Amino acid sequence: MQRQEGSGLGQGRYSDRRVLVAGGGGFIGGWLVGRLLAEGATVRAVDIKPASEWFQLHEDAENLSLDLRDLANCQAAASSADWVFNLAADMGGMGFIETHKCDCMLSVLINTHLLVASRDAGTKRYFYSSSACVYNADKQATAAVAPLREEDAYPAMPEDGYGWEKLFSERMCRHFWEDYGLETRVARFHNVYGPHGTYEGGREKAPAAICRKVIEAKLSGNHSIEIWGDGTRTRSFQYIDDCLHGILAIMDSDIRQPINLGSSELVTINGLVDIVERIAGIRLERRYDLTAPQGVMGRNSDNTLIKQLLGWEPSIPLEVGLEKTYRWIWNELAGGDVAAGARASSSIITGASAP
Ligand code: NAD
Repeated sequence: MQRQEGSGLGQGRYSDRRVLVAGGGGFIGGWLVGRLLAEGATVRAVDIKPASEWFQLHEDAENLSLDLRDLANCQAAASSADWVFNLAADMGGMGFIETHKCDCMLSVLINTHLLVASRDAGTKRYFYSSSACVYNADKQATAAVAPLREEDAYPAMPEDGYGWEKLFSERMCRHFWEDYGLETRVARFHNVYGPHGTYEGGREKAPAAICRKVIEAKLSGNHSIEIWGDGTRTRSFQYIDDCLHGILAIMDSDIRQPINLGSSELVTINGLVDIVERIAGIRLERRYDLTAPQGVMGRNSDNTLIKQLLGWEPSIPLEVGLEKTYRWIWNELAGGDVAAGARASSSIITGASAP
């Protein structure tokens, strides 16, 4: 692995570490590469997309376009890496995972081959990005849902397609530790949002989709919004800064069991729209599409375990993270700074304040 010229890196708590970020061209991977570089790590970022389509391209990293479903590509990617973060998956919001179950499940090739390659390369530690979609559907049947505890994944009845792949891959991580001694860490991400994520094209999730729709209504003067479902389903949403903090804290820890990484601030979809309308300074007529993909009735993160083991939990208020996200999407769609709610700093828009 080589450093790019002029990186000025080498300081920081990870300056002795060579790190692979699989999925480095995606939302969370892109932020993670930036954070690891800032902490002094030598980073190789790998994604199936051509570099021109990466959400963030960090010149101080070694950036490779490779299909990690292929074992030989995983071997090339993992060679000489002390740490491997697997953030690569073919995924998206409900609109994508309900209609692309095979594509989601084929991500099993990425994690399986990356585990094999990491074991053979002598990787010291491996991180897998699992999901709250592993949880048993029966535990998520009402909007007033009890927060999900780690043990609620069993007996297994995860989200069809995407959730089954995540649950299987979690177990692969567990058995690579038990059978081969590869140190694995597994975080179950609950919805993550923030700047530099997908906001259009069919893979976007609720926070970015709602920000985009509100901005489009504002720009077009057509003051109505289409909402998937009846707006009463509940979720929690975690800002990217909290997610990054949690990933590194879990990787640094000795927590070998899958652990929730999510906010416990529960909100209805209507409540999410309320917040974005407030940020935008607009009220919209709401049209509810009851035929659209909606997912489970309610989902929240029980953070007892992470608080107990790390003395920390995600805590950035939804309103704060959404304003930064709204401003970034506004800048992408309309260019220039946004007039509404002037609290977020312009450094977010330039990406200079990497979380
Ligand atoms: P993302 O789609 O932005 O990033 C995933 C990246 O993986 C993409 O850039 C994609 O091109 C890449 N990829 C897909 N197939 C690949 C392949 N064969 N080889 C190499 N790269 C490939 O998604 P994200 O939001 O950054 O999610 C990262 C991880 O976190 C995923 O494993 C996802 O399942 C998990 N997760 C995310 C959320 C969330 O709310 N964002 C929630 C739960 C779990």
